[in-house]
Amino acid sequence: MNGIIFDVKRFAVHDGEGLRSTLFLKGCPLRCPWCQNPEGIGPAPALWYNPAVCVGCGGCVGVCPAGALTLNGRVHADRTACTLCGKCVDLCPSGALSLCGRTVSAQAAAELLLRDRVFFGADGGVTLSGGEVLLQWEFSAEVLALCRAAGVRTAIETSMMGPRAAFEALLPVTDQFLTDIKIFNAEEHRRLLGADNRLILDNYRFLHQQGASVLTRTPLIPGYTDSEDNIRSIARFARSVNPDASYELLNFNPLCRSKYSALERDYPVQGGALTHRELERFYDILAQEGIVHIIKE
Ligand code: SF4
Ligand code: SF4
Repeated sequence: MNGIIFDVKRFAVHDGEGLRSTLFLKGCPLRCPWCQNPEGIGPAPALWYNPAVCVGCGGCVGVCPAGALTLNGRVHADRTACTLCGKCVDLCPSGALSLCGRTVSAQAAAELLLRDRVFFGADGGVTLSGGEVLLQWEFSAEVLALCRAAGVRTAIETSMMGPRAAFEALLPVTDQFLTDIKIFNAEEHRRLLGADNRLILDNYRFLHQQGASVLTRTPLIPGYTDSEDNIRSIARFARSVNPDASYELLNFNPLCRSKYSALERDYPVQGGALTHRELERFYDILAQEGIVHIIKE
């Protein structure tokens, strides 16, 4: 079957064990204000503009049949009018415009991921990420089955915001689940991420009941997830589900700000990555809550 993807990262070292190729799938049910891949949120392909390389020639404005583009210091796109015909992308001399997202078959996706298999070694492999893998779980399961059949280890990065049927299909073909629990307080989760976290916590329990290999992860986002109470609550929950839980804290990476600029949107997170000392404080909190397997940067 076909799926919609928006990126492939080769030689990745933060998307699971060892050296990996990571495939990014379009579409996400959550609305994290700090999202590092805003181009992956919408389920369909979208027009992408990089003002840093635009030379201001105005060619795109003239060629657009929908009248969706204007030039005023930089190009502005009316995304409600754009039909994704791609004419502006074809014309742009600088590569400032692109269509983010394309449809590929599961076979083609697996071939993309397996290009570098010679480098994966015993620990590395392929990872599916997003967006949210669970929104395209049938496609994902097919891609992972093909990679498994090629003798390659598989992982998915997931918010766990998806149906039980998705996990039942993915469990037999996934060696490791990299699971995000971002905010533990239900009301805060609903207010900030736009959805209840009950399903996420239920699926987390289910994965453990099924004996899956699970790495619990929380992104440390200044002003959103980096409170002692939040990390302590998640650690306590993780340990109540699995006394042997492995936990990784992901430091904030502010590099995605330029993506928001490209989308003409403000990025709400203030500040930069946490310092080594700040990270150590959170590692201490995990240890105090009895987490033994702490994955450090
Ligand atoms: S993709 Fe087509 S409709 Fe959309 S802005 Fe470009 S030329 Fe216009
Ligand atoms: S065609 Fe490309 S370089 Fe020219 S104004 Fe449009 S986006 Fe910028």
